[in-house]
Amino acid sequence: MKKSELSKYRNVLKTKQAELAQVVRNRDGIAIEKSPDAFDEVQYAAERELAIHNLDRDSNLLRSVRAALRRIEEGSFAVCLHCEEDISPKRLAAVPWTAFCIECQEIVDRSQGDHRDDFDELLINAA
Ligand SMILES: [Zn+2]
Repeated sequence: MKKSELSKYRNVLKTKQAELAQVVRNRDGIAIEKSPDAFDEVQYAAERELAIHNLDRDSNLLRSVRAALRRIEEGSFAVCLHCEEDISPKRLAAVPWTAFCIECQEIVDRSQGDHRDDFDELLINAA
């Protein structure tokens, strides 16, 4: 990958990182609201659940973005962590923080059991 392209991705990722870091920080304390109204209680519980779910997702994304930035510094950006093939430019344009090529990503998404751990391991080692 050309230097100019790399620095473009670095900018994209840095912006995303700042954005996510702020979101995650702001949601640090998920408010627990109480209401005498049973309907409100259900509503609050649902909102809380959604907030926790989003926080989880954003934290994971933030970790992926940070790992991608590190791969840029290390010179391994745009290379699949699993098969070590180049990740297609189209895929990178859509998901700049991806660690896997499209084929391997499909395996990750499909495998719920045995292989899942292998991939988690790869990501943990890369982080
Ligand atoms: Zn791959």
